[in-house]
Amino acid sequence: MARAAVPGRLSWLVSTLAATREETASARTLVLDVPGWRGHQAGQHVDVKLTAEDGYSAQRSYSIASAPDGTRLELTVQRIDDGEVSPYLTEALEPGDPLELRGPIGGWFVWPPGSAAPLLLVAGGSGVVPLMSMIRSHADRKSKVPVRLIYSVRSPADVLYAPELSERARVSPLDLTYLYTRAAPAGQPTGRISANVVAAAAWPPDGKPAIFVCGPSGFVETAADLLVAGGHDPASVKTERFGPTGT
Ligand SMILES: Cc1cc2nc3c(=O)[nH]c(=O)nc-3n(C[C@H](O)[C@H](O)[C@H](O)COP(=O)(O)OP(=O)(O)OC[C@H]3O[C@@H](n4cnc5c(N)ncnc54)[C@H](O)[C@@H]3O)c2cc1C
Repeated sequence: MARAAVPGRLSWLVSTLAATREETASARTLVLDVPGWRGHQAGQHVDVKLTAEDGYSAQRSYSIASAPDGTRLELTVQRIDDGEVSPYLTEALEPGDPLELRGPIGGWFVWPPGSAAPLLLVAGGSGVVPLMSMIRSHADRKSKVPVRLIYSVRSPADVLYAPELSERARVSPLDLTYLYTRAAPAGQPTGRISANVVAAAAWPPDGKPAIFVCGPSGFVETAADLLVAGGHDPASVKTERFGPTGT
């Protein structure tokens, strides 16, 4: 007998990989068609489940990179070479293959549609993924709210969505600040997020920005501490950590 879905509990859905896009040498966007998808808000994530023929399964969380768009979703996965799930998603999964997922998950780390507050986005590495959904939603809604992205990344070759970010910065109220931690373009310094960077690149606290910080745990803690030390209201700083997840 088929088991009815429990109200309020998310059911697993079987999506189909429609297309892929190589974002960098080690990160790939998966474009998924998800029949039954009920929509999402920018900032939310899904759980993805892989099941082997012997029944062993592994789950991981992935942020949604795309703006809400019917039953189509985009995830961007950064490959971790010794990882269990990300190498499969970035190297083995092919268009036409099924992928089980459930979501949308998360009600806190979301950009509320219609928010009038300036938007300050702070990303470490692949932490830019849910922030990209906010940037894309902002554009889709033709929002006039100013947006700043501070994006800490190892090198220019590791920047996700580089051409799209440049184009969006050209045509919409989006400012970009890149921090290169290991290798910078010629003539630019390398460096990490610091009080000076926050003072120069973030909106001032009296503008009451809505702030979203996402990335590895250490980066998120440092960035959030710097923002609060710089005078931002702790309640305005929302964080999401991309630590190891799943079973
Ligand atoms: C809410 C949420 C959203 C996320 N969104 C994204 C996303 O949009 N894109 C994305 O690429 N990842 C995202 N992640 C991370 C993702 O869930 C996995 O942890 C990641 O893909 C590694 O899984 P794996 O099975 O390949 O590695 P595992 O087999 O789990 O781990 C292999 C090794 O890598 C280390 N490791 C695990 N995760 C990370 C990590 N994130 N960074 C560095 N080292 C790690 C482990 O400690 C271990 O040593 C998100 C995590 C959370 C909690």
